[in-house]
Amino acid sequence: MNINNILSALEAKHPGENEFLQAVKEVLVSIEDVYNQHPEFEKNRIIERLVEPDRIFTFRVAWVDDKGDIQVNLGYRVQFNNAIGPYKGGLRFHASVNLSTLKFLGFEQTFKNALTTLPMGGGKGGSDFSPRGKSNAEIMRFCQAFMLELWRNIGPDTDVPAGDIGVGTREIGYLYGMYKKLARENTGTFTGKGLEYGGSLVRPEATGFGALYFVNEMLKAKNIDFNGKTVAISGFGNVAWGAVKKATELGAKVITISGPDGYIFDPEGVSGEKIEYMLELRNSGDDIVAPYAEKYPNSTFYPGKKPWEQKVDIALPCAIQNELNLQDAEALLANGVTCVAEVSNMGCTAEAVDFFIEKKVLFAPGKAVNAGGVATSGLEMSQNAMHIQWTAEEVDQKLHQIMKNIHTQSLKYGKDNDGYINYVKGANVAGFMKVARAMIAQGVV
Ligand code: GLU
Repeated sequence: MNINNILSALEAKHPGENEFLQAVKEVLVSIEDVYNQHPEFEKNRIIERLVEPDRIFTFRVAWVDDKGDIQVNLGYRVQFNNAIGPYKGGLRFHASVNLSTLKFLGFEQTFKNALTTLPMGGGKGGSDFSPRGKSNAEIMRFCQAFMLELWRNIGPDTDVPAGDIGVGTREIGYLYGMYKKLARENTGTFTGKGLEYGGSLVRPEATGFGALYFVNEMLKAKNIDFNGKTVAISGFGNVAWGAVKKATELGAKVITISGPDGYIFDPEGVSGEKIEYMLELRNSGDDIVAPYAEKYPNSTFYPGKKPWEQKVDIALPCAIQNELNLQDAEALLANGVTCVAEVSNMGCTAEAVDFFIEKKVLFAPGKAVNAGGVATSGLEMSQNAMHIQWTAEEVDQKLHQIMKNIHTQSLKYGKDNDGYINYVKGANVAGFMKVARAMIAQGVV
């Protein structure tokens, strides 16, 4: 495999899709060795087939705001790869959304979903619509207009969307309501649904909980105790909330959270009612964390800054792609960080990831660390198909087992000769092997 040739051909075909090319490069570099050891991969043109999505839908979403003005947004669904199961992945509603973002996310999702061991292919979608500052009625009208276009292309065994940044239980409710009205069936088709209409217990917490189960396994493999560690978390949405909750439960002290406006440093730890206050902040719709410091005066708000300048044992980016760069990575290491795990998808820049690996820092990539979210979506699909509901304990126990399993798989393929565990390589190879084998078994389609 000639990585540079593949990447330059891809770049010529899809100029300017920087996030997508970044995600592809990371996987290709990781899998180069196993790819070359298996001539059947090259013979079957697996890479060339894997880097092009099965299909992409793009559409106009026109809707009327509260003032009566017409707004126009772009809508997308990238059905990336269904070798393992129906397309599965979230919808992101954020001003920064474009095709490059969604292709990178769909590509990552394909391997992430393979790692969960559940039968799910990879997909992703969304819109450049930003829910920030919009009324409930505006969000509902937008979701309905979005679904009017997309509904024919999804279904419980075809493509199962879920939430992501900007899409939570409220948006899933509006999307699913419209979907059901059009499709005239009640078969799930979305995950992250409300508990009253087919949602799964533990789904809201699952990404954060799963991430902490994974981090705990990473530390255990190095004989490090999680109890008593200090943790920096970025973000303050659903994923960050679940991560803070589980980290605190496991005996660590979370000293930062952040928003687009800056970060909060809370030396006493984000614990107890402060964790629930995160949800209140999120639900205010303003997308800022500054009010936390007004409510809890022993904490400090650092406007326009990122939490990675603080001295911590564990750093968990939980917000958005490329939120932790080389400079941040250097600052964390200078402050003696023990472990860094991406809870957001591709949370670290390529330079930061290379730096962590070069310096042999305990580091794991999003597609392994945050797979608990989609894994629990898979469990929601199972419950919907069986028309039953599992208890919180049952779901949590399955989630825990899945995360341990992902850790074991990543370890299997990620151990370097000197004993360093390269989780980036481990997760990419484990995910790739499964997808590649499934593609070969199903012929040229
Ligand atoms: N958006 C989440 C992710 O990045 C969850 C996707 C899902 O539940 O389908 O994996």
